[in-house]
Amino acid sequence: MEWCESMPKIELHAHLNGSIRDSTLLELARALGDKGVIDFSQVEHVILKNDRSLSEVFKLFDLIHIVTTDHSSITRITKEVVEDFASENVVYLELRTTPKKNDSLGMSKRSYVEAVLEGLRAVSSVDVAFIPYNEEPRNLSSTLLSGVNENCYGNPRKRIFVRLLLSIDRRETTEAAMETVMLALEMRQFGVVGIDLSGNPAVGDWITYLPALRFAREQGLYVTLHCGEVSNSKEIHDMLDFLPQRIGHACFFEEEHWKRLKSSNIPVEICLTSNIRTLSVPTIDAHHFADLYKAKHPLVLCTDDSGVFSTSLSNEYKIAADSFGLGRKQMFELSKNAVEFTFADNVVKEDLRKTFNSGAENLE
Ligand code: 5GP
Repeated sequence: MEWCESMPKIELHAHLNGSIRDSTLLELARALGDKGVIDFSQVEHVILKNDRSLSEVFKLFDLIHIVTTDHSSITRITKEVVEDFASENVVYLELRTTPKKNDSLGMSKRSYVEAVLEGLRAVSSVDVAFIPYNEEPRNLSSTLLSGVNENCYGNPRKRIFVRLLLSIDRRETTEAAMETVMLALEMRQFGVVGIDLSGNPAVGDWITYLPALRFAREQGLYVTLHCGEVSNSKEIHDMLDFLPQRIGHACFFEEEHWKRLKSSNIPVEICLTSNIRTLSVPTIDAHHFADLYKAKHPLVLCTDDSGVFSTSLSNEYKIAADSFGLGRKQMFELSKNAVEFTFADNVVKEDLRKTFNSGAENLE
């Protein structure tokens, strides 16, 4: 197995529905085609197309949402996405998703998140630890705290920590955003740790969500913002002023923004393939990863939408290593450093540090 696949990794920027398997998306779309809900022949080529601009990506998301927004699909996608990340040795996954309301399907934002939790419980190929330790019943907690479970043949079973971020979509109202934050607060006991602001960056004004984002932070939720995906100097400036705990992308930053970012030390979620595919960055050589890495700015490599962009976290590590001339040890350090930028509690962080420390011994 290639080192980038066998190495333990941390994924902090993965959108649930964007991480759907191609095969699942096609199957669900075909089933809706058979029922006459959509015209499958019109959507097949959209699903199979590989290079999409940012606006085409958002058209695809609209299609994905039509195809996936019922409880059982959400549960299935969650299960598969967690299994896929675990299979490439992601040891901690922060999965983000936009809770959706759909009266005709009897779906509320709460029942949407419950369907996600059902998906986490349905994973069987790997141990999933998603309930924070302070919420864990005593008997379960000791099993999970003891580290990797052993199966009956003595082989360690893989284990993945999963935490959830609830996303606010830039098409939503202030009230809808607040509803998502209230739900996140209620769902903390099930591993919801924070709020993300995402959705088409050409739509809406982030100020609309400021009251909800402020409230989330006051209540102890972590906040990460999609920032600088399009050229919008004032918005980038104001978002950095807000001091979110992390930001995603940072593609259209100007000199003043870089200065601010570097002095504030806000970690950046870097999504190489996504940025190149959506033409947010012209070439991999021009990607800001290189400068931020050289400046030792906190960074974490992420997939964004592994299904939509046909990538994996191992692939993102390989691309970074090949494009920026980084060796195995440097990539391992990059992955290990990401533990500190997770929104997990200290018990989980300590556990992850141990995982990386024992992985480092194998590197020698
Ligand atoms: P979901 O929240 O439905 O699980 O995941 C898909 C959604 O995540 C999309 O509809 C969109 O709102 C958001 N998303 C996925 N990728 C991107 C991205 O690259 N940029 C932004 N701004 N939002 C994204």
